[in-house]
Amino acid sequence: MSHAFSNALVKRLRAAQGFIFDMDGTLVLGDAASGGHNPLPGAVDLLAALRSRGVPFRVFTNGTAKPPATYAAGLRKVGFDLRDEEMMTPSTSAAQWFLKQGIGKVRVLGLDGVAQPLVAAGIEAVGPTAEAEGVEAVYTGWFKEFTFPALEAACQDLWNGARLTTASNVPFFATATGRAIGSSFAINAMLKAMTGKQARVLGKPSVDAFRVAMQSMGLPRMAAPKMVVVGDDPALEMRMAVSAGAYGVGMTTGLMKRSTVRGLAAAERPHALLESLEGLADKLR
Ligand SMILES: [Mg+2]
Repeated sequence: MSHAFSNALVKRLRAAQGFIFDMDGTLVLGDAASGGHNPLPGAVDLLAALRSRGVPFRVFTNGTAKPPATYAAGLRKVGFDLRDEEMMTPSTSAAQWFLKQGIGKVRVLGLDGVAQPLVAAGIEAVGPTAEAEGVEAVYTGWFKEFTFPALEAACQDLWNGARLTTASNVPFFATATGRAIGSSFAINAMLKAMTGKQARVLGKPSVDAFRVAMQSMGLPRMAAPKMVVVGDDPALEMRMAVSAGAYGVGMTTGLMKRSTVRGLAAAERPHALLESLEGLADKLR
């Protein structure tokens, strides 16, 4: 089955200097049985078409359960032509933000998936309950193993002047079996209640994250209007696209539905809405 793509949309996509794709609900759907990914129709072809044209792209998931290279390997396994450095998580952009701020010591409320990109960037990652002096920031991510001692340690750091940062601050995310709690949202709420500090979001939808993605593709800031962000979550990809001045393509293959888009605030509304990526590669080749 092929889908209609308006001429205006095709023109816009052909002129794009770079793409940022969401992963779940946009390029793939999670396979609950295997823990792997099922590519959505047209997704593998679309990335291949961009590759053949030499158009840079990033796949940016807001999950921090695994390090970026592990997600990239999972996507290659189901057919995507994707290099490790083309995969991003919030910790990829967080690492760059910490470096820019001159922050070198961070307490990580999360496991290896959250901490690994920070460590790779040369940042000292302090474990959730480790005793440490001089922690400059607390960073929260996917952390189902959260414990009361971790809460106490993070509060001490924050009371001592550390900044509060987070991978993601959305309450729920979609899974094959329904909605699941975003662990960092719940942890951030506890930390705010205890310290009064509001977590700064370093993953999607922050413009910081958008800029790190652009920079990693070798694109200047002024290219933002020629960037295309493709995703299924109004609060993440569409909000990021709108606030960064990029072009947002919404997908109805995940959270967004055609019937709900009209009710969205302008800050979260897609510029174009697609029901499938199938056939789009042929339009862009
Ligand atoms: Mg998604």
